[in-house]
Amino acid sequence: MIISTPKGREELEALLKDYRSLFLIGCGACATVCKVGGEDEVFATQEWLEETGREVVGSMILEEACHIMRSARELRRCKAQVEEADALLVLSCGAGVQSISNCVEKRVLTGVNSLFLGNIRRFGEFEEKCSLCGECILNETAGICPVTNCAKGLLNGPCGGLEDGHCEVDEERECTWLKIHERLEKQQRQGVFDRAVEAKDWSKKFRPGQHQLDKNEEKK
Ligand code: SF4
Ligand code: SF4
Repeated sequence: MIISTPKGREELEALLKDYRSLFLIGCGACATVCKVGGEDEVFATQEWLEETGREVVGSMILEEACHIMRSARELRRCKAQVEEADALLVLSCGAGVQSISNCVEKRVLTGVNSLFLGNIRRFGEFEEKCSLCGECILNETAGICPVTNCAKGLLNGPCGGLEDGHCEVDEERECTWLKIHERLEKQQRQGVFDRAVEAKDWSKKFRPGQHQLDKNEEKK
């Protein structure tokens, strides 16, 4: 899921200084789990907006704001309220915000900062495990991602800074490459250690998103 945090009230105040009426949108998926854009947060934001002299002409929680077609359909149901608002304030990750800005002419503002693709450790505690590099090597690294978890993103680690099993960049953390080595050893296989891994082709990280963006531009 996409991990995000709310923008502070001060930042929101500056962002909204020219807007008197708003349509508020939350997201029932990641933003709800992260407690940035679920029912409670939409309600609290609505209260704050009204306290600061603004009118909330309507609000909705989309099931998954990142679903472009469903979001467009839901928004059509509230067309009159959306028309009435000076702007739409969206409490979801950047992907959700763009579903919405894609289907309305009106100014769409985000009240959230998107951080990373995260795993849930426990309620309110998230970990980054994958940085979506587009060229996954987990099959060879015993299911541990060095691109994301090694502080230097090394592909042929470990580096020389490993000390007592801990990372030189953050001594609280175990060295990722040591963990990979230990797990591969338990599995009695060489994995990634049987070859020199070539430098990552970072163009693969951007291609799918860029490709889609180009297609959308062509359609316009
Ligand atoms: S190797 Fe790339 S795709 Fe695979 S888990 Fe790591 S960052 Fe994600
Ligand atoms: S000590 Fe290990 S985790 Fe830290 S940067 Fe070096 S290889 Fe990566």
